[in-house]
Amino acid sequence: MEQAIICRIGFCPKCFKAGRPYTDDRFYPYGSDRGFNLQFSVRQGIPGFVPFNYIVVETRDDQVFLERSCAMYNCGVDHIVKDNEDWDFFIKEEAWEKIVLSKISWKALIVWEDEYYRI
Ligand SMILES: [Zn+2]
Repeated sequence: MEQAIICRIGFCPKCFKAGRPYTDDRFYPYGSDRGFNLQFSVRQGIPGFVPFNYIVVETRDDQVFLERSCAMYNCGVDHIVKDNEDWDFFIKEEAWEKIVLSKISWKALIVWEDEYYRI
């Protein structure tokens, strides 16, 4: 299985406490055609249910070792101001969380898209 990055909706306790996502919240998801890119939520979603980015680190036997992070600004995502005063967004190093899934669960996550949930 080659290196893979995907973005899927998941539950983030920190965003739940903060009531995110709000309308116009910034988030920084990975899109298969655009890579990491800045997006704005168009309405307030269900508190705590926000995009997560998943990166495959290694696959071994029937397991997939991943790192995932919340993609919401002010949670897993921060910014730096460049010399021209534009903002560059990035995922905080400490936001990446190691998780292990079975290959079956990973494949299910890849094909699962919550078409009824939009932020
Ligand atoms: Zn979060």
